[in-house]
Amino acid sequence: MALSGIQIYKMLPQTNCKECGFPTCLAFAMKLAAKQVELSACPYVSEESKKQLAESAAPPIRLITLKADGTEVKVGNEVVMFRHEKTFYNKPGLFLRLKASDPDIAKKVATADAYKVNYVGMDFNLNGYAIEADGDLSAAVKAVREVTKRPLILIGTDAAVLDSSLSLLSGESTLVYAADSSNYESLADVAKKHKASLVVKADSLDDLADLTQKVQAKGVEDMVLDLGGKNLGEWLARSTQARRLALKSNFKPLGYPTIFFAAQNGLDKEAVYASQAIAKYAGFVVIDTFAPEMIYPLLVLRENIYTDPQKPIQVQPGIYEINSPKPESPVLVTTNFSITYFAVANEVEGSGLPAWLVVTDAEGMSVLTAWAAGKFDAERIAKAIKGFNVADKVSKKRLVLPGHVAVLSGEVEEELSDWEIRVGPREAVDLPAFMKQALN
Ligand code: SF4
Repeated sequence: MALSGIQIYKMLPQTNCKECGFPTCLAFAMKLAAKQVELSACPYVSEESKKQLAESAAPPIRLITLKADGTEVKVGNEVVMFRHEKTFYNKPGLFLRLKASDPDIAKKVATADAYKVNYVGMDFNLNGYAIEADGDLSAAVKAVREVTKRPLILIGTDAAVLDSSLSLLSGESTLVYAADSSNYESLADVAKKHKASLVVKADSLDDLADLTQKVQAKGVEDMVLDLGGKNLGEWLARSTQARRLALKSNFKPLGYPTIFFAAQNGLDKEAVYASQAIAKYAGFVVIDTFAPEMIYPLLVLRENIYTDPQKPIQVQPGIYEINSPKPESPVLVTTNFSITYFAVANEVEGSGLPAWLVVTDAEGMSVLTAWAAGKFDAERIAKAIKGFNVADKVSKKRLVLPGHVAVLSGEVEEELSDWEIRVGPREAVDLPAFMKQALN
């Protein structure tokens, strides 16, 4: 059970020496309970207290890391049931499943590996590959390793086959799927030997909790749960129950991330199944279909669920050049909320019209929200124009404000008296027409 601030305080030296950066031990204890500081910041904690505090500080859902040649996927370490309570930290890894018997396996992996999509300034791609041992697993692993550096999941039940395939992946952290009540001893030995993580599966949460304890007793700490379930509803119920037990009751036998196979119940629903797994609460989502039209929305969904709700996605404030602007090109201004920035930048770029785009620091808010919060006003706009030396780049000082903040035009004119202030359209989609008609 997580300790309260008062319980932690009782284990601290209580000298209020301030060396941790807090005025009192109690203040430090409160921060520690909220997991906002590291215990190591206090140099005077006794060894006994350290042990007790470390136990209570262990994450309720174990962090599992898969690694291969510089790329890695981290899942688990989550602390809340609902994103709005704090945030979700580690995005589920999206893996593509392939069969070892497929003669085109390397070609398929190479194609999937090259897939990259940009969403509001961020590059997304698949996280790795799951190889099913229905043929020569070692040969498939060798072939796949030649075309990708991403982590792997090896799917099989034969400990000897998994052992020799894992030997080809030394120095990596791989996930092995899956140990059940019939084979957990041999698979746990293999996982331990190769420092691999091990998926544990059972038909009920009770059986799963039993099995994780047995696997742990064999010396394997890094586990992932396959919750089973006959349909989407059952999987969702088990996923929610396991997470609740881990987070609310600190029930360690189920305190591991989960894996979900989205194609298990029919390919036609793969996208729906994968979406639910991303939302609630899979650590690894395995898909069978490489289809960019399915993968892109899954990646965007994942990004939106795993961004910190208190920190909007932002772009760097500054002056951006669109379509090689010239000194006579107009200057547009907007905020640094990335969706706002990309809406404006994409419309102007698509039109082929050159422009300077000044992005102000509005703490990541959209135009109207920032204006209402006092983060996008005449003073800030003028500060950005002066701070980024925009006047040095242009011969014609024309500044276009977003239509939603037309009310600011008078104040901006006062702040930037040598500039011509124009009010642009409310929507980014109308910018090209406005630029063609009103700025010539
Ligand atoms: S460093 Fe340790 S003893 Fe000193 S105030 Fe902080 S918590 Fe208390």
